[in-house]
Amino acid sequence: MVYCNYCPGYCCYRLEGSVLLLTATDINRLARHFRISDGEVRKRYLENKYTFKVREDGSCIFQATDRVVRRCTVHEARPDQCRRFPYGNPCPYLEREDLLERIQPLIEKCLRPVATF
Ligand code: SF4
Ligand code: SF4
Repeated sequence: MVYCNYCPGYCCYRLEGSVLLLTATDINRLARHFRISDGEVRKRYLENKYTFKVREDGSCIFQATDRVVRRCTVHEARPDQCRRFPYGNPCPYLEREDLLERIQPLIEKCLRPVATF
């Protein structure tokens, strides 16, 4: 979707009511990507049986933190749900001001330039 090229990755934040459900295939794809076992993927990156850990700001642990346009650091091995979203529909994040209002401040906080002296 062309908007994704300019979006800071709103869909990679955990919001109330949203959930990323991982399958065994997703875990195995990541395991092959990192060249570690499925169990090690679960141990390192999963919060519970079905979903990734998130950072304090609610962003997925695999979302890049050092770019203005935020990207998935495991793009080639991302889960099916991430591949399919928004399922052929217009992206709901770009249409809901209530969602954008909640996420935008978090993104701007992350992207604030670090002062150099
Ligand atoms: S699917 Fe929507 S929220 Fe996700 S990156 Fe694309 S435009 Fe942004
Ligand atoms: S795996 Fe990648 S695309 Fe999926 S939520 Fe995390 S950062 Fe976003």
